[in-house]
Amino acid sequence: MYNFSMPKVFVTRRIPQSGIEKLKSTGFEVEVNSEDRVLSKDELITRLQGQAYDAVLCLLTDTIDGEVFEAAGPQCKIFANYAVGFDNIDLEAAKKRRVIVTNTPGVLTDTVAEHTFALMLAIAHRISEAERFIRAGKYKGWAPMLLLGDNVARKTLGVVGLGRIGARVAYHGKKGFDMRVVYYDIKRNEEFEREYGAEFRENPEDVFKESDFISIHVPLLDSTKHLVNAERLRLMKKTAYLVNTSRGAVIDERAVAEALKAGVIKGAALDVFEHEPAVEPLLLELDNVILTPHIASATEATREEMSRMAAENIIAALSGKEPPNAVK
Ligand code: NAD
Repeated sequence: MYNFSMPKVFVTRRIPQSGIEKLKSTGFEVEVNSEDRVLSKDELITRLQGQAYDAVLCLLTDTIDGEVFEAAGPQCKIFANYAVGFDNIDLEAAKKRRVIVTNTPGVLTDTVAEHTFALMLAIAHRISEAERFIRAGKYKGWAPMLLLGDNVARKTLGVVGLGRIGARVAYHGKKGFDMRVVYYDIKRNEEFEREYGAEFRENPEDVFKESDFISIHVPLLDSTKHLVNAERLRLMKKTAYLVNTSRGAVIDERAVAEALKAGVIKGAALDVFEHEPAVEPLLLELDNVILTPHIASATEATREEMSRMAAENIIAALSGKEPPNAVK
């Protein structure tokens, strides 16, 4: 089918099999890093040098920059990221070397939106705190004042970044919980506004001021780094909650921890961290925050889809076609 002999693909860490099998059944030689851990940039460079891989299937935990492209060599046509975000990849350096970069958009939208809502409900209903309470043997019977939380229904949900995931979260808020939805995005989505009654705000400050729950869904870019900072946290209601399933550095994690401790906001739920896998130590001491280890897209079905999609991008690129999910 292909007029080249056994293209070689390096996969930087074990991922679900669907993509690996797809690559193999297409006739590619696939080498998967056998150690189930993140390779440092230097280790990745060592693994790539002199191996003449035609493609690399990489993860959001891999730092991919000019030095890595250099090590991979000019025959390496594509770095297929197993994620929708691609802030781990230096796109300028890729462009300079004509390396194609792809991502896995869409297949994880439902899963991340579900996880976001799970976090929102869990922090409002104090689920983690309540579970810790029971496991600590503190439950002595129903009590009228025990662990009172907040309702989600009919509250104001503020979405920052109404893209694929943000829009799905807004949909759940509107349809499932009859919430009022306000949003900020650099691109206005009037169709969504018409269909779901979401209200656009010209600046993020208004979303911060008006919302009972703020959910962040922007990509990590220079323009979105620390989009949630001390100043904007002070605009929030004292009774409001912050949820972040985008990227850690979109929020100033220390500022969020201090705001939670000082009661500037009521609670937060975070799936991503500024210096993963490190978590701001102050957060670990607080009860009014829920922390999950970057698992918002982690369902078996979704991870299989991401694997398949990354493989399809590689197969297209190595067949001289435009990959379906090339990052422009
Ligand atoms: P998307 O591109 O569909 O949506 C991003 C939205 O952000 C777009 O509407 C865009 O216009 C908007 N935006 C960009 N810059 C902005 C700015 N400065 N201010 C306001 N809005 C801005 O992406 P998506 O598929 O919805 O994914 C969003 C992000 O979620 C990804 O980039 C990724 O970092 C993160 N993510 C995290 C996980 C996880 O496991 N926690 C999983 C998937 C995605």
